[in-house]
Amino acid sequence: MGLIDHEELPGIVTLPLRRLVNWSRKSSLWYLLFGIACCAIEMMATGASRYDFDRFGMIFRASPRQSDLMIVPGTINEKIADRVKVLYDQMAEPRWVLAMGGCAINGGPYHGEYNIVDGVDRVVPVDVYVPGCPPRPEALLHGVLKLQEKIAREGIPQKSAARA
Ligand code: SF4
Repeated sequence: MGLIDHEELPGIVTLPLRRLVNWSRKSSLWYLLFGIACCAIEMMATGASRYDFDRFGMIFRASPRQSDLMIVPGTINEKIADRVKVLYDQMAEPRWVLAMGGCAINGGPYHGEYNIVDGVDRVVPVDVYVPGCPPRPEALLHGVLKLQEKIAREGIPQKSAARA
């Protein structure tokens, strides 16, 4: 006897398509293999066996065209800012950006230096900020979970907005 024969299972399951699409997007984030500075070491540790990014559906890709998440792990200087923008523009849509560490958020210890961009949000739009110098893998995982929550809400009217 298969599951389908069970009397308590409904014959039809209804679900808003938007929720289904959001669920599939948040559960299969493919992040760009992309490291700039020391925060990238923590990102690599998060992807390794102890913290295991894969269990969230997070798979790194070596091409921006196959990636929908850019984790920015490190210092953005004037030279690399243009390259970051090019990589972002080449990524698949919809796409998201996570600023990892103080440098990516606002320049961190290099804030105000002559060749430093004080925050990657001056180059590309950022969805989630993960503070720290560097943030530990647990913090990066928490940031990814927050991003997943954000993706799950995308395009779905919230109650407060619906009343307005
Ligand atoms: S935030 Fe700290 S650990 Fe991360 S790239 Fe900047 S200096 Fe390095």
